[in-house]
Amino acid sequence: MVKETKYYDLLEVPPNASEADLKKAYRKKALRLHPDKGGDPDKFKEVTHAYEILSDPEKRDIYDHRGEAGLSEQGGMGGMDPQDLFSQLFGGGGGGFFGGGGGRAAGPRKTKDLVHRVNVSLEDLYRGKTTKLALTRNVICSKCKGKGGKDGAVRTCPTCNGRGIKITMRQMGPMIQQIQSACDECHGSGEIINLKDRCTQCKGKKVMPEKKLLEVHIDKGMKSGQTVTFRGESDQSPTAEPGDVVIVIEEKPHERFKRHENDLLTEVEIDLLTALAGGQFAIRHLDDRALLVQLEPGEVVRHGESKVIRGQGMPSLRHHEPGDLYVKISVRFPDAIDPDAIPLLESALPPRNPLPAFDKNIQLEEVHLEEPDTRHMQEDRMDEDTEEPRVQCANQ
Ligand SMILES: [Zn+2]
Ligand SMILES: [Zn+2]
Repeated sequence: MVKETKYYDLLEVPPNASEADLKKAYRKKALRLHPDKGGDPDKFKEVTHAYEILSDPEKRDIYDHRGEAGLSEQGGMGGMDPQDLFSQLFGGGGGGFFGGGGGRAAGPRKTKDLVHRVNVSLEDLYRGKTTKLALTRNVICSKCKGKGGKDGAVRTCPTCNGRGIKITMRQMGPMIQQIQSACDECHGSGEIINLKDRCTQCKGKKVMPEKKLLEVHIDKGMKSGQTVTFRGESDQSPTAEPGDVVIVIEEKPHERFKRHENDLLTEVEIDLLTALAGGQFAIRHLDDRALLVQLEPGEVVRHGESKVIRGQGMPSLRHHEPGDLYVKISVRFPDAIDPDAIPLLESALPPRNPLPAFDKNIQLEEVHLEEPDTRHMQEDRMDEDTEEPRVQCANQ
């Protein structure tokens, strides 16, 4: 009888499983859970840790007798990088499971992420949208399976011993400087393939450019700077795992709305009669609706006043709860009014403000308002403009 079965359960094997059974079970589970295959990285780690313990006869013995507590007493949790263990077991040497990744210690673990910005309209961020994106990335050559040529055709470059770099010494006065550059012979690849043995499809490059169509799901309420990631869709390489394609959302400016988190701001111009006597105005929304706003008669709207319409902002990302719509109202005044209609205004509006009471010694002088002479003001400003750069030049 074993004390605990958690690790066996993780691998879905009975506690009396043989070493071969364990390995087979781990391989099956790890292939399914591998993060590069879209699996859950935490689950992958857990399963890998379970296998790491059970595949070691000494640790398995401790676990069987005393459970996880026994292992932590040993201080032997340490553990390996699950990626390392995985590629050590199944990755390297010939047919790796993921394009022959792992194994080789040199070279990058992952190819560079492909980052792509997409400009999204506020309408699409409001409603959500699925958009197709074509991208070109390198894939392992189908003809040579990423070897670059016939079996045995690939040799280590003798000039650089496969390091791909050349070091030259240069005398700099009393010092000798080391300069590193790409090997001329193999162009930095560290390998040489005879021309006649080279793969005819990829010309020895091992990879070929391939177009791929990605469906980018833009969720309702996404914001600038948020990303959609496609795991392992970046360039493939015979020596590294493919990196990710990262789509960065960029919100396009909108002509009617400004966005502040999940709230929207818009400006509306109404006429004076509507502002004073009520009426309605409409706001074209970001979907296929227009909001009809009713101003009750007797309710006065002031120029420059802000109002809010609840629940008509952007949907929140998580639960799609809407923010609010703020409306800044400006009132358009008429250019002139028929003097005959003024008595009607006088009967409807509050009376004119009386003049303040001045001291007796203050003389009242009648004057007229005129339109300011804008042309003259502009000339003044132009004079300043032409003078400014001259002064700056003299200072520099
Ligand atoms: Zn090829
Ligand atoms: Zn070389």
